[in-house]
Formats: sequence, structure tokens, C-alpha cells
Amino acid sequence: PFAALRPQKPDALLALIAMHRADSRLDKIDVGVGVYRDEAGLTPVMQAVKAAEGRLHAEQQSKSYLGAEGDVRFAELLMKLVFGEGQSDARRFGLQTPGGTGALRLGAQLLARAAPSSRVWLSEPTWPNHAPIFAEAGLATRLHPYFDVESRGIAFDAMLEALQQSRAGDVLLLHGCCHNPTGTQFTLEQWEALAALCNERDIVPFVDLAYQGLGNGITADGEGAHRLLDAVPTALVAYSCDKNFALYRDRVGALFVQTPTSDLGEVTRANALALARSLWSMPPDHGAAVVRTILDDGELRLSWGDELDRMRDRLNKMRVLLATAHPALTSVASQRGLFSLLPIAPSAVPAIRQTHGIYMPADGRINIAGLNEINLPRFVEGLLPHLEK
Ligand code: PMP
Repeated sequence: PFAALRPQKPDALLALIAMHRADSRLDKIDVGVGVYRDEAGLTPVMQAVKAAEGRLHAEQQSKSYLGAEGDVRFAELLMKLVFGEGQSDARRFGLQTPGGTGALRLGAQLLARAAPSSRVWLSEPTWPNHAPIFAEAGLATRLHPYFDVESRGIAFDAMLEALQQSRAGDVLLLHGCCHNPTGTQFTLEQWEALAALCNERDIVPFVDLAYQGLGNGITADGEGAHRLLDAVPTALVAYSCDKNFALYRDRVGALFVQTPTSDLGEVTRANALALARSLWSMPPDHGAAVVRTILDDGELRLSWGDELDRMRDRLNKMRVLLATAHPALTSVASQRGLFSLLPIAPSAVPAIRQTHGIYMPADGRINIAGLNEINLPRFVEGLLPHLEK
């Protein structure tokens, strides 16, 4: 059967990693790959994670199967971060998934089973994996305007206007915070307007929360989603712990679903579990057990929170430094998370790479965490002649 398959475009980011690795210049700068890095350019295991892994190693008595829902206490603890403290609404349930990607895919399969003709609205631009995840599940996707090239902020009015084309039952994917790739975030007023739009037009919001804590802090980064989720009857949330716990390769995530009634919630949960069984049977345990151990322990939770605060402070400090380098970069300071989309032409990117050893994707999306106080001046020097404003 494989003769029918078509060649696939190579992954541009992986190609960039390979080029960066092959570059022998000592002062090369990698702002491509999407992981957090410290001042020394490393992506370390967080201290609370190391401590939790030590405890698990000493105390875990069995690795027997858990079930398609994964670690139940993990999902329960995470639910408080997603929906707000004191929220144990019977209309809401959570299942552990392999990363945020697994949560998105499980949500997509659930939607495809429940409402195959619904269309999923994605921001233009968005994380490149969003469209394939929904398309592979059999759902049609539509793009709505999102990024305003002039202000380098959100084109909110244009977004709302495009969504007037939505049909009842359509799905609206929203980045909970730290939009990838633009670094933009909705204000609380905009979240409220989105909630009103979802209610008016009978749209189901699907919140992708992959960077909670890396914008303005755990609580602040969840606030917009809390307001939306409190205001609508039906919603999905794909959560990733891979960035805020730096557990990337351990694949830690959860899907949360909110339904109008608890009866509907029970049927929906049973369907989600059946789909999970056919996708991965059960999610991998280790990373979720680590997160559960941290969130369930006062001391580890504090340690995790402190380290996450330091990571976020470093990102935001680099944002301020970069923003002051040139007027065309001003908006970088008000953006949040790992990414920013810089105003440079794709055609300038290879020259910047060859001349200065600066590695970034052609769309100008940079990972702020690739910068530090030593390399930032060189980064700016390489970039400035190519800025479009
Ligand atoms: N959503 C967004 C917006 C992301 O940027 C990412 C990761 N790059 C994910 C989801 C998926 O995260 P995970 O690695 O946990 O699958």
C-alpha cells in the first residue's frame, strides 16, 4: 500500500537544528527550537522534578496498568489550575494524555465523533501542528485573522468579524496564554467578548493551555480561560505540563471537557475513554506522577513555583532588553511566553544565519529563551539591518 504515499516536506525546524549543530562557530545563536533555556543556554531538569523523581524511585511499589484515564489525582490537581481553585463542577472531567498534543488529538477525535460536520477555527498564524491534528481527525479547519502586522498585536476586530462566518456547533481554538508563535495574549475584556461570541453564535471554545506560568504567572495566565469557561456551557481544554514543568520528552498533558449537564458529562467521558483506548490505550505514567507528586506536596510545589517564576522573569527581562534595541521591536516587551514574531522578511533569514550564525525559522519566529545578556547585543546587531520598519 505504501507506493500510494506521497513524499512529505521535511520539518523546517528539525532542519534548522541540524544546521545549527553543524555550525562550528562558538558564538552561534539558536533562537529556533521551542524549549526554555537558562542564561547558560541549557534546558535543565527542574529541582522539584528531580526531588519528585527521587521520591517516586524510592516509594513506587508497582508499575502495573492504571487505566485509560491515567493518573486520576494528577488530573484532579491540574483541574484547579485550569478552572480555578474551589472548582469541582460535576459538569467537568479531566483525563491524562500524552502531552498537550495528545490532549488536542483526543479532543479532536471526540469532536469528530460527536459532531463530524463542525469546523475548527484557528488563528492565522498558529502552532503549525494545530491544523494537521484536527485534519487527521477528520475535521475541517478554517483560519481567522489574528495578528496585526502594524501594531504586532492582536487584530481583535478582524478576528471577531471573520467569526461571523461561523456556524452553530463550530469550534474555536484559543491559545490560553503566550500565543505561539506571536507572543500575544487576549486581555480579560477580550476573553469576556470571546465568551459572549461563543454564547451568541453557539461556538464551542477549545482552549490550548501549553505555557501556563510562563507569561505573567500561574494564576494570571489562567484567568482569561477561567472567565471564558465559567461563562459558556460547553468547552474543551488541552493542557500541557511539558513547558511549565520542563518535562518535554516525558509527554505530560491532560484533556478537560465541560458539558452543560453532568449526565452529558458522563456519556462524553465514556466516549473520550473509548477513544483514548484506541489511540494509546493508556498514557505514559512517569511525567504525570512527577507533576502529581509536586502539586500534592507543599514544599515541592513552592520550589516548582519559585523556579518557574525565575524562568518567567528571565524571559520577560530578555523581552525588555530586546524591545529597547529598536522601535520596530517595542511590542516584544508586552508580548509573553517563549515566542515572538519579528518583522523581518523570510528572504533575510538565510543571510542573518550565514553572516552572524543566528538560527531562526523563515517566518521570523524567535524563541526569546535563546537569548541571554551575553549574546543579545550580537543578536540585535545581526538583526537590525533587516528589520522591516
Ligand atoms: N500547543 C501549543 C501552542 C504548543 O506550542 C505546543 C508545543 N510546542 C503544544 C500545544 C504541545 O505540547 P506537548 O509538547 O505537550 O505535546
